Amino acid sequence: MENTKELKTWLNDFGLNHPLVIAGPCSAETEEQVLKIAHELKDTDATVLRAGIWKPRTRPGNFEGVGALGLKWLQKAKKETGMLTATEVANKDHVKLALEHDIDILWIGARTTVSPFIVQEIADALEGTDKIVLVKNPVNPDLPLWLGAIERLYTANIKKLGVIHRGFSTYEKTRYRNNPEWQIPIELQNRFPDLPLICDPSHIAGRRDIIFDICQTALDLNFDGLMVETHYDPDNAWSDAKQQITPSSLVQMMVDLKVRKATD
Ligand code: PEP
Ligand code: MN
Repeated sequence: MENTKELKTWLNDFGLNHPLVIAGPCSAETEEQVLKIAHELKDTDATVLRAGIWKPRTRPGNFEGVGALGLKWLQKAKKETGMLTATEVANKDHVKLALEHDIDILWIGARTTVSPFIVQEIADALEGTDKIVLVKNPVNPDLPLWLGAIERLYTANIKKLGVIHRGFSTYEKTRYRNNPEWQIPIELQNRFPDLPLICDPSHIAGRRDIIFDICQTALDLNFDGLMVETHYDPDNAWSDAKQQITPSSLVQMMVDLKVRKATD
C-alpha cells in the first residue's frame, strides 16, 4: 500500500458530505421494516442505508439474518429513496449475491476480519470491483490483523476502500460493549492518512446513552464518517436492541454534534 492517495477520493466522487453518515438497522427484519426506516432516513444527513442480512452471531440460537431475500428489500429502498445501500458480506457467496444485486457498499464484519483465508476469498471474489468496500477492525485489538485484511483487499485492486472502527472486545466488563482503544485507529490513520476512517459508535457502545459522546470523540479525531444503527422501534429490534437509536434521535444528534470544518 504505497500510494494510497486515490483512496480518499471515493468520498468526494460519491458527492458524500462530510462526515459520511451510514444509518439503518442492525438487521433487515422484514421488507416493511427496511422501507420504513429508509423513508425515515431519506431526508436526513444519512446518505447510505445499512442493514445486515447475513448476521454472524457469536452464539448460535440468535437471529442470523434473513439472507439473500433482504437484498431485494435494499434494492427497493434504494429505488424509493435514492439512498446508497450497504450490507455485510462474510464469504464469497455473499459477495457474489451482493454484486448481482448492485449493493453499493460491502463491509467485512469484525468476526470475519480475524480470518485471513476468508478475507482472501472475499478479496478474490471482489477483485477489481468499483464498489466501496469497508473493513471493520477485528474483534481483538490487533492492528496487524486489521492491516492484513486491508492489504489483501488493496492487492485485489479494490481502490474504493475504507475502514470502520467498532471497538475491541475485552474479557473485563467496561462501560463499553467493545473498548474503543482510540490509539489503534489513530495509528492506522497516521500510517494511511488517505484511508477513509468511519466510526461505528453502536458496536463500541452497546447502549444508546453513550453513542453521542463516542461520535463526538470520533469527529474530534478527524474521522471521515459515522455508521449508526438506527431503527424506528429499537427496543423491539431483532438484534442489538439496546444500542439502536431512532431516525429522529439521529437527526437531533447530527444537529448537536460539533463537526470540524475541513479548514479548521
Ligand atoms: C453489525 O454491523 O451489525 C455487526 C455485526 O457488527 P460487527 O461486525 O462490528 O460486530
Ligand atoms: Mn449490530
